[in-house]
Amino acid sequence: MDELLVDSDGNDVKDLLLNSTRSIGRVNFVGLSVDDAKKYVFSDLDVAYAFYNAFGRVNEFSIRKFKVGRNEIDKRILWQTFVCLRQGYRIFRGIDETNKKRAPKSETRCGCVAQMRVHIDVGRDWWYTTLIQNEHNHELIPPTLSRMLRSQ
Ligand SMILES: [Zn+2]
Repeated sequence: MDELLVDSDGNDVKDLLLNSTRSIGRVNFVGLSVDDAKKYVFSDLDVAYAFYNAFGRVNEFSIRKFKVGRNEIDKRILWQTFVCLRQGYRIFRGIDETNKKRAPKSETRCGCVAQMRVHIDVGRDWWYTTLIQNEHNHELIPPTLSRMLRSQ
């Protein structure tokens, strides 16, 4: 349905609709600005997650799923946020012998506010980005290096 491939401003989004995690491969994330990243729309939340994951890989941070907002009646997800892995603070659970021996985690949370938020467009049946906050309050580590640190 070609006539639906326009966004709410009437812009053609044919090249911006990502309808599988595979289709993310055609996005050039190197040097992709936040404004340009926000133009993409996604067929489902998995694709949106994979998109932000790839965005994070290039921008040297890791992500995780965070909050969802649901329709009160049918519980359908209306929006979701993905956050930097360092979002928030880890809850202190006390020290026990096993904790003491464990090396400190390389990905300690430090209250980073970087995030991506997507909403469903019910009429067009796709997900669009309402927010990408890309300010990190910590050093960014290339994923290959952070993998090495994690496995130590
Ligand atoms: Zn961060």
